Amino acid sequence: MLSDLEVLVEAMQGAEGKFLVVVTGAGISLASGIPTFRGQDKDAVWGRDVTELGTFRFFQEDPAGSWRWYIDRFDKVFQARPNPAHCALVELDAWHTKRNGPFLLVTQNIDTLHEQAGARNHVKVHGSADRVRCPVEGCSNGAPLGSLRRVESDLSAFRRDPTASNLPRCPACGAILRQHVLWFDETYDSHADYQWDRVCEAAEQGDVFLFVGTSFSVGVTELLVQSALARRRSVFSVDPHAPPMVRDIVALRTPAEILLPARLPARSLRGLQESVTERSLGTRYDRRTKERCHPWSGRRSCRLSSRCNRPSGRHAYCRRW
Ligand SMILES: [Zn+2]
Repeated sequence: MLSDLEVLVEAMQGAEGKFLVVVTGAGISLASGIPTFRGQDKDAVWGRDVTELGTFRFFQEDPAGSWRWYIDRFDKVFQARPNPAHCALVELDAWHTKRNGPFLLVTQNIDTLHEQAGARNHVKVHGSADRVRCPVEGCSNGAPLGSLRRVESDLSAFRRDPTASNLPRCPACGAILRQHVLWFDETYDSHADYQWDRVCEAAEQGDVFLFVGTSFSVGVTELLVQSALARRRSVFSVDPHAPPMVRDIVALRTPAEILLPARLPARSLRGLQESVTERSLGTRYDRRTKERCHPWSGRRSCRLSSRCNRPSGRHAYCRRW
């Protein structure tokens, strides 16, 4: 019986020239310290169902409550850094594209870890935590095209006194700003940034589908997996906590941050990984000892890059941290 790694390597090698669609969910960011969005808090107020609080209706009823809920979560999100699984997908994109295969990464995550890792062919189908927008449709800062960088909104007054009168407002029309994320009572085509057309195109034309850390519980994964299976395309799922899969999905139950990085390049992407390692380590790479930080070992902090502030991290992957 093949190991998870051997199955994955074989799948990626066999995908040459084919449309490779990678779909990531909250599971890929767990190793970066971001809890899954559907986790239950102990707090009575915030322990309410996420499908009730993550709605436009709740924002309209209680904008201050909505903002407090998101600030609490997004503060943790902004402290997170990519883990080796995010970085491995960037290398996979580069390697696959070199082999003339279309590549698209569709993420359900609103964190910015794929961008921080350097993702290029990338769709954030649920929006992004680092942006806000005006709730007024047609406003230059609202749907269908507008949004604002979150850092441009001054939240200091609201943090001191979290009431509606201190919430940031749209510079164009004065409406209270909202999160630039897809809420449960909204549709995927409600903003151009969600790039729903590209997702539909991938669902119709993708040849090999690799799901990473997804629970298959939201509409976008349902669409992609059903379309793939109906067209008898290859579907793989990397997730140690995956529920029992349908027969035609190959379930790989090794954690993504272990299965995807380093080992995948080591077998099938060897040439690319070596070039990436040398390029990223530059003159500080010790060719004699091959010394570099090792992920998750905790034996030493990264000292090969002044920009890497992680207590541990594989240097080849931390160059953008
Ligand atoms: Zn506005």
